[in-house]
Amino acid sequence: MELNPICCFCYLIIDLDEDEGATVVKLGAVDPAKGGNVTQRAYSHSGCLRERVHPNIDLWWEF
Ligand SMILES: [Zn+2]
Repeated sequence: MELNPICCFCYLIIDLDEDEGATVVKLGAVDPAKGGNVTQRAYSHSGCLRERVHPNIDLWWEF
C-alpha cells in the first residue's frame, strides 16, 4: 500500500482515491552551494493548487 502524501499547502493528508486531481508539484531552484539546479517534489490537492494559482493562468489535469 502506498502512503498518502501530504498537501504542501494545507498540510492535510491527500487521499489519492478521493482526489484524482491531486498532483505532484515540481519545485525548482538554483542552489548556489551546489552550483546547479535543485528540484523537489511536493504534493498538492487539486483544489489547493487551483485556489493559489492566479486565475489568469490556465491549469489542467492530465490523467
Ligand atoms: Zn491541500
